[in-house]
Parts: sequence; C-alpha cells; structure tokens
Amino acid sequence: MADKHKAQSHPSSKNERPMSVDFKDIVVIGGGFSGTVLAVHLLRQSVAGRSLAVMDEGTVPARGLAYGTTYACHLLNVQAGEMSAFPDDPEHFLNWAQRNCSGIVEPQSFLPRASYGEYLGSLLEGIQTRERAAGTEFAWIRDTAVSVENSPDEFVIHRRNGPPVVASIVVLALGNFPPGNAPFRGLESRRVLPAWSKNSLAGLSDDDVVLLIGSGLTSVDVTLALHADGFHGKIQLLSRHGLLPLCHQLTPPWPRFYPERSARTVLGLWRLIRKEVASAAATGVDWRAVIDSLRPSLQTMWQSLSLNERRRFLRHARAYWEVHRHRIAPAVARTFSNLMKEGRVEILAGRILSCRENFNAIEVSFRKRETGTTQTLRATRVINCSGPETDYRKAGGPLLASLFEQNLVRQDALALGLDVDEDGAVLDSSGRASQRLFAIGPVCKGRLWESTAVPELRVQAANLASCLLKRKLRRSRSVSRRREILPVR
Ligand SMILES: Cc1cc2nc3c(=O)[nH]c(=O)nc-3n(C[C@H](O)[C@H](O)[C@H](O)COP(=O)(O)OP(=O)(O)OC[C@H]3O[C@@H](n4cnc5c(N)ncnc54)[C@H](O)[C@@H]3O)c2cc1C
Repeated sequence: MADKHKAQSHPSSKNERPMSVDFKDIVVIGGGFSGTVLAVHLLRQSVAGRSLAVMDEGTVPARGLAYGTTYACHLLNVQAGEMSAFPDDPEHFLNWAQRNCSGIVEPQSFLPRASYGEYLGSLLEGIQTRERAAGTEFAWIRDTAVSVENSPDEFVIHRRNGPPVVASIVVLALGNFPPGNAPFRGLESRRVLPAWSKNSLAGLSDDDVVLLIGSGLTSVDVTLALHADGFHGKIQLLSRHGLLPLCHQLTPPWPRFYPERSARTVLGLWRLIRKEVASAAATGVDWRAVIDSLRPSLQTMWQSLSLNERRRFLRHARAYWEVHRHRIAPAVARTFSNLMKEGRVEILAGRILSCRENFNAIEVSFRKRETGTTQTLRATRVINCSGPETDYRKAGGPLLASLFEQNLVRQDALALGLDVDEDGAVLDSSGRASQRLFAIGPVCKGRLWESTAVPELRVQAANLASCLLKRKLRRSRSVSRRREILPVR
C-alpha cells in the first residue's frame, strides 16, 4: 500500500509490537439502512458459530446520513406504508409506527425521518436481544474503516481508533458521500461549506444571505433546517435548471406498462412515458401514478440502455427525471412554498460563470437560463447542495483509495459508483467478481441506477444476505477469536 495510507490507516504502525485483532466471518462497513438491515437478515438466518460485525462511524447506530437528522421538519419522502425494512413483511414499519409514533399514522403518512431512525435502531436492538439465531456472534464497532488490506483469504480492516479487524468477507455499505468539490474555481473559500457538514448552518445572522448550490432534495432539507433554526435572512437556490422536487399527491394507481420489448433509447422511453401519462390523465389519473408504476421496472430499464444512451439520460433527462421521481412530502412542499411567497426563498436557474471572495461575501456570477444575461449574487455563505459525489476516486477517502490501489475495485463506466455483479460482488480492476468483497446501496448505482431508497435497498439486503449465507466461509470458527498480527508496514 502507498505510504499515505499506511500513515492514515494505521496510527499504531509506529509501534512495531504485534497487535491483538478480532476475527469475524463477515464485516459490514457502514451501518446506515443498508448495513443494518443486511446485518439483521444475516443474524436471523445465520448458523451457530458464525460471527458478524458492523463497523460504522456514526454517533448513533443504525441511522446513517438520512435518518440521523434531529430536525422534526425533515420528513420521509416515501409514505409510511412503503417504508418497511423487509420486502416479505410490507407493513412492518407501518405497524411499528402505529405502536410507537404519536398521532394517527396511516399508510399514506409522511413521518419524520428521525422516527425511521428509531425504527432501524429498534431492529438492531431486537436482533441483539431476541431474534438472533442461537450461537451467532455480533458486534457493532463504532469506528471509521480507513483501509482494507487484502491477503490470500482474508481482509484486514484498519480502523481509525482501534485495533484492526480481520474478516473473511467484507461488505461495503458506505451510503452517499458528501457533495464533491464545487465544480467551479473560486468556491474553495472557507465560506463555502458542503451540505451535511457539521457547521454548515452555524453562526448565521438574519442579515446574512445564504446561497445553496443545487435545488434538489438536499437544498430543500437545508432550507427547512435553516427555517427551523430561526434563520430569517435570504436563502437563494441556484441550479442549472432551477427545478425543485415535485410534491407527492394521492392518486389512484396506474397499472405497470413497461413492456419487455419496449424502446431501448432515452427518447423512446421518454415518448412511452409521455404517452402513458396522457392516457392516465384522460382517465383522471395523475402522472405520479405512472411514474410510480415504473418503479419496479427501473433497474431493468436502466440495464436495457446502452452506455451511450445512459450518458444521454444523464446529460439531458436526469434533472427532469429526478424532480418527478424523488418527490417531497406535502407538508414539506407547503412550508417551502410559504417561504417562497414571503420572499425569503428564491429559486434561480443558470450556469455559474465565476466566483470570487469580496470582503465579507462571495460573489457568484451566473448566466441566467431564461434570458442568457449575467447576474451576480452576493452571499455571506454558500452551501454546496449539488448532490453526493459519486466519483469514488475523488470522494471515497482513504478506505476507497486503499481498495483502488490494490486493484480490488473499479468504478463503473459512468463513475456513478463501483462496478458490481448481479449478486453485489465487487469487480476488481480486471473485471473479475470478488468472492469476498461485496457492496450494497448507492454504491451499486452504476449497475442498477435505482439503488438509493428503501423500497429497493430492502430487496438488495435480503438477497445479499442469502447470497452470503450460501457461501462456504474459508474456515469455520466456533466463535470469533482474537489473534495477533503485525502492524502493516
Ligand atoms: C437526506 C436524505 C433523505 C432521504 N430520505 C429518504 C426517504 O425518506 N425514503 C427513502 O426510501 N430513502 C431516503 N433516502 C435515501 C437513502 O439513501 C436510503 O434510504 C438509505 O438511508 C441509504 O442507506 P445506506 O445504508 O446505503 O447509506 P447511509 O444511510 O448513508 O449509511 C452509510 C453509513 O456508512 C458510514 N460509513 C461510510 N464510510 C465509512 C467508513 N469508512 N467507516 C465506517 N463507517 C462508514 C456512514 O457514516 C453511514 O453511517 C434519503 C437520503 C438522504 C441523504
């Protein structure tokens, strides 16, 4: 491994004494929805003598980025009736919420994301105390994995704060990375903060102007959080198209219509959807039902497109698709639209031309989409809400860098994540599927496209658990055991 990783990954490498490490059959790195639910499946079905650990850097287990929010205004963007963690028990979350959440909970309710975090926490608690198959061993390790080192039949996972863990199988459940560096020069200033960073909302006064780069779900979240924090200054959202996520609305369902032998081009699919939306409208059914009816076919649709067509989709259709597919809860839409009516929130569309720091502000010039004229904004803080960075070479930190360096992983052709096979096995740099390194969640977006939200991830978790449990682990161990290894040099 390169020196930089040795240094970062292994704080104790100065100390040449052997260290005591834990051995686990399976280690899942990342304990958000994907890692937690995968662990629950594994523990329910595992056989005696197996050992499993989830390593997650978050302060509260099982929350991940989405469900760790403490803002009550951050609501799920999927109805309660569709948020079960288990594909074979579709009302599991609804039943839990009806027992545990205040107020009336209906299948159509949009509950706080923090409540969903509690639900995931309760699954973890259940598995720790009751539901686990007898004789399996489980540990939740609160730490950051900083590198994974490959040896012929096991991996050594180096942690930021503790001794390494050795595993036969590693699953990457890393979730979404923060937005990448702002893609324009001049925005490297300390006044420009990535969304989700600890201090991005701190220290603002009502005279401040906050500019959000991007107008998707993240910008909506940040706007609501600023509002909840009592910020009364101006909030501007700037994105290329100036499109906001659309709002959910109750509508009768529309039957599945994607035929197996349908158009294999973006334009063909676009036309097909428009035609279907028109037919739905003629019978009083809203376009939302048409989009929702496509949901089970989205992965197949993506896979039916050639690489060039997928590129075309990303370039020309993605922005429009995202606002129709990723919709917001009605209550969120109401708050947002009130803020716009009061003039506190403004949406701007255009391409950024230049940015520069000027006294206590950042000046951002952009070409307006509608008129082609140039406008300059003056903001005291800029928050980058341009969506998660998917180029894992840039965003993955030392953990991914260590995997790339050992040729254990490769990016998918569109740099949407890592290349994986149909089981979630990670492909190495030569395209060979690993027998021991797997991935789940947004990291599989290149292969599946629709690999971000609970309805798809719960299926991935169940399938990956079955796939892993079928594998013969190299050595059967009665319990995880401690052994000594030398620090990486
Ligand atoms: C703000 C937001 C709101 C969302 N709302 C919804 C919704 O309402 N409904 C829905 O279906 N989907 C929603 N989603 C989609 C969401 O991505 C999935 O629902 C789900 O949370 C993804 O889970 P995950 O475990 O794959 O990723 P995450 O939840 O991001 O979990 C990944 C975990 O891995 C940890 N990690 C990463 N690297 C390391 C490392 N090196 N060492 C240790 N730990 C590491 C992270 O800290 C994190 O805890 C939302 C997403 C976001 C970002």
